[in-house]
Amino acid sequence: MDTKYIFVTGGVVSSLGKGIISSSLARLLLSRGYRVTIQKFDPYINIDPGTLNPYEHGECYVTVDGHEADLDLGHYERFTNTETTRANNVTTGRIYQAVIDKERHGDYLGKTVQIVPHITDEIKRNVKILGNTGNFDFVITEIGGTVGDIESTPFLEAVRQLRWELGKDALCVHLTYVPYLRAAKELKTKPTQHSVKLLQQVGIQPDVLVLRTEKDIPVGMRRKVAQFCNVAPEAVIQSIDVPTIYRVPLKMHEQHLDEIVLEKMGVKPVGEPDLNAWNRFLDKIESAEEVLTIGLVGKYVELQDAYKSINESLFQAATYCDRKLNLVYVHSEKLTDETVGDYLKDMDGVVIAPGFGQRGTDGKFVALKWCRENDVPTFGICLGMQCMVIEYARNVLGLKDANSTEIDTQTKNNVIDLMEEQKSISNMGGTMRLGAYDCTLREGSKVAKAYGATQVRERHRHRFEFNDDFRERFEKGGMQCVGENPKTHLVEVVEVPEKRWYIGTQYHPEYQSTVLHPNPLFVDFVKAAIEYGKDRKK
Ligand code: GLN
Repeated sequence: MDTKYIFVTGGVVSSLGKGIISSSLARLLLSRGYRVTIQKFDPYINIDPGTLNPYEHGECYVTVDGHEADLDLGHYERFTNTETTRANNVTTGRIYQAVIDKERHGDYLGKTVQIVPHITDEIKRNVKILGNTGNFDFVITEIGGTVGDIESTPFLEAVRQLRWELGKDALCVHLTYVPYLRAAKELKTKPTQHSVKLLQQVGIQPDVLVLRTEKDIPVGMRRKVAQFCNVAPEAVIQSIDVPTIYRVPLKMHEQHLDEIVLEKMGVKPVGEPDLNAWNRFLDKIESAEEVLTIGLVGKYVELQDAYKSINESLFQAATYCDRKLNLVYVHSEKLTDETVGDYLKDMDGVVIAPGFGQRGTDGKFVALKWCRENDVPTFGICLGMQCMVIEYARNVLGLKDANSTEIDTQTKNNVIDLMEEQKSISNMGGTMRLGAYDCTLREGSKVAKAYGATQVRERHRHRFEFNDDFRERFEKGGMQCVGENPKTHLVEVVEVPEKRWYIGTQYHPEYQSTVLHPNPLFVDFVKAAIEYGKDRKK
């Protein structure tokens, strides 16, 4: 079968969940035995989201091959259990950079370089990269932004051309919003009609409409939308708010989204998708009654998307352990020795979040000291691990001015320091230590037991590292360096074995936790938190 291309666009407002709809459709097609990948095209000019502040676009996700990517790629992986790469996330910046490089190289042979055809050709080439590998039956392409935005116009033009070229092998799913006006007690479809008109104006007729709504949209109203928008009535599907995003694939399947897509693309749907494992996970979500309370200490707590993958990893792990996750965001800037007890006393476990720069680190040190002294299960991730090392150096090893050179460039006790290969780097974009690296875990350590293995591979995103000059002092003083890179011997994991669960990882295990394969380290942390919770309540 030729690779089929499904385009997902959005209208009316942003944040409708195109990523979740794309992921849900991918889940259904995968569960029918097809090979599927999802890619995201983002209309902004940044080359990648690596240089973006989390307040702008939430978390920066990292792929195995070290691409700093949009957080939607995290959803793709969590839903599909399939790794993404650099090819799965392309921005306007990347497209222009490639075209301008070609122009400088003389590839356009004296032609005037224009948005159409040069930019659109480059977009089309990128859309097809994964399809051309022969590894996928379906390539789902999510177009970021909202129809009508100036920025997304070249992408929509490329979609229009591709639909023309690919015929039945291309399909467009358009996601819109049907607001409920409380005062009038009415659902309103006019914004949807307008947004479809905008799409039609640029030459794209959607094949399927997915209507996001908070209330059930009556069949008659969906028919009306179908009629106004030239879409088959059965292909107007509603996506109603559900308690968990992981239920969306089932909601889509109930309305035959997968069958409709297959039929429209000339593939006969046979049988039903195998959603057994998926359903077992959903059953666990629903049957969990006991609550597990985890505190997440970070500085971006006003914005839930800033720690998206950590939230999801904790949720998956808690669900597998039959617990309802109560995740409490604790603003690190509010923590002082006087307030910390009030903030953390009800936590079964505490995660110290990743991050950059000095702001908020004092609160992380306060939290870590309190957790260590009270023997609360504690998980430090990336900057969280680095803070764990610093706090231990200061308060246990007696190195009062211990610090990271990221926080204090002058510190003598630079227990965390800039990696050697980072010292000559001046460009900020894409220059950290990024992507998956092997890690060897010490036999018998808590972390090796958690993984049930001594060789693991996890993803990184950092410039600073544990300073090896201090390794012996830490080991003698009770903090063990139990994970290291087999080639460079960089310290990747520390733990204090005498504590219940006090582990820090330089890598980000949250990037490798999916619904069907929750990350073992998160599961182990959650188990320790459950045990601690039981002890505490005794
Ligand atoms: N700022 C730290 C570093 O660059 C940690 C980064 C992170 O937490 N992702 O090493």
